Amino acid sequence: MNGFMLKVLLGLSLVALPAHAQTNRTYAGVKAALQKINGEHPQDTSLFTLNASDSKDQILGLKIGNGPQKSLVVATHHGNEYGSTEIALAFAASAAADLLPSQTVFVIPVLNISGYDARTREERDAKGIYRDPNRDYPGPCGTEGPFHLKSTKSLADFIEREHIVNSATLHTAFPTVVYPWGIATRDLDTEYTDTFRQLATAATEDSHYQIGNSTSVMYAADGAFEDYAFWKHGIWSMLFELGFSHSPSDRDIDTMVRINVPGIRRMLLASPVMPAPHHAFTGACDMRLGSYDRHDE
Ligand SMILES: [Zn+2]
Repeated sequence: MNGFMLKVLLGLSLVALPAHAQTNRTYAGVKAALQKINGEHPQDTSLFTLNASDSKDQILGLKIGNGPQKSLVVATHHGNEYGSTEIALAFAASAAADLLPSQTVFVIPVLNISGYDARTREERDAKGIYRDPNRDYPGPCGTEGPFHLKSTKSLADFIEREHIVNSATLHTAFPTVVYPWGIATRDLDTEYTDTFRQLATAATEDSHYQIGNSTSVMYAADGAFEDYAFWKHGIWSMLFELGFSHSPSDRDIDTMVRINVPGIRRMLLASPVMPAPHHAFTGACDMRLGSYDRHDE
């Protein structure tokens, strides 16, 4: 339950909510926020859309800067995780006002539009079946997909077309920043654990969130975007699990912004300029670990 629902149930005055009312934003409000940033920085930003979505709406993003290294910040694979949307919007505003030198950053605040407006984790596919978007990518140890959803396929096509080098995918709510592998294996380390640790350390300087391999810090989850991006393309791919709740208050969101937006920027700037050359998974899958996937992150 979000703060808005709680106040309705308790019969409290809604007037007390601040004007920005972040907890209650709709997808129309997300688009308006991106258009506002674009309007304030017309030289350095432009709006773009992904190819397709199962929603009637198009997935809107903001391209920020013109540097040669292409970066991605994507939020809200899980529609109920509106806190991640707010961090993406705050990051977009911050990056547009203070460009990342030598980078072009693509910010997609909401991937799962129908889930976001309904505040549900899953997204409805073309057949009306609810799918977990962050289990819908191909992966070396399995997937619940692949690509039942147009949104996930569109994002996969996008990172390939744009030659994305580094990415941050934003969720709620463990306080962690983690890196591959997050799949069903006991062979958790890539060849680049030292680099990934440096990126995670840069990301958590202010937040002091826990860092580590995704599977060891949380649990195995096959078919997730963050592993796909590294496995398929060698993208320096980090998963941010922000805050402590799927229902943060506006005040909680302000804190999450303050301690994470600078960290996302530092992580993107600390990333190598070329993708990792050795990104195949060479370990062994342990499918028993897959049964521990709680689907709550
Ligand atoms: Zn999530």
